[in-house]
Amino acid sequence: MESNDNSEFDLLVVSLRRHLQRRQRAGLGLLPKAEQRTAEPTINGANELLRDREVELFAEPAQGSGAATLEELRAAIGDCRLCKLCSGRTNLVFGVGNPRARLMFVGEGPGRDEDRQGEPFVGRAGQLLTDIITKGMGLKREDVYIANVVKCRPPDNRNPEPDEVATCEPFLKKQIDLIRPEIIVGLGKFAVQTLLQSKVPISKLRGNWHRYLGIKLMPTFHPAYLLRNPADKKLVWEDIKKVIKELQGENA
Ligand code: SF4
Repeated sequence: MESNDNSEFDLLVVSLRRHLQRRQRAGLGLLPKAEQRTAEPTINGANELLRDREVELFAEPAQGSGAATLEELRAAIGDCRLCKLCSGRTNLVFGVGNPRARLMFVGEGPGRDEDRQGEPFVGRAGQLLTDIITKGMGLKREDVYIANVVKCRPPDNRNPEPDEVATCEPFLKKQIDLIRPEIIVGLGKFAVQTLLQSKVPISKLRGNWHRYLGIKLMPTFHPAYLLRNPADKKLVWEDIKKVIKELQGENA
């Protein structure tokens, strides 16, 4: 019994030490110098045992979770270095638009143009999204809110990796919580499958209403996909017409 208690205590010590080191790497707080000099105790099997447990032992509120406005959330995210995508970014792409938007668009992550300009959906694909909003829906880009699942550009435009999504998605959830849009349009396979925790192809998910955080979600194709497959624009237009009807209350 006593040996179990000691083992629990050792695990606690290792877990706390790692937690403090992670905070330091993330720029969240400094370790006392004496702590940095102390060697990490070696405990057989500690790595395996700690893999899941330290998360629950020292889980802390996500960065920015206490923000009351988008500005506060952006300030809390700051020069975020919580995941490895920070190393390749030029700008962190937070999101843009009306903080009280009824309609929100969520894409995958910043591309090259977005990374350079610090704004989501600005290149050719961004122009197509702007056309959908303005010419298709009769709205202004400033009427809606546009964000991505991850805020920093993945290298060579690869898909964000699971650990990157897991680290960054709380920021998106907080944005949605602050904006409380009536409808979210999920843009493209990656964003939609991430939001819905689904492996179903986007071609099957699109055009049907789903829910994310209790909010109506309409999946559709990503504008970049439409640039390569312009024949599918008519499918996106069908999806967008459903969104327009919903915003107008015609489906109530
Ligand atoms: S992708 Fe998100 S979690 Fe990763 S560094 Fe950028 S803001 Fe932080």
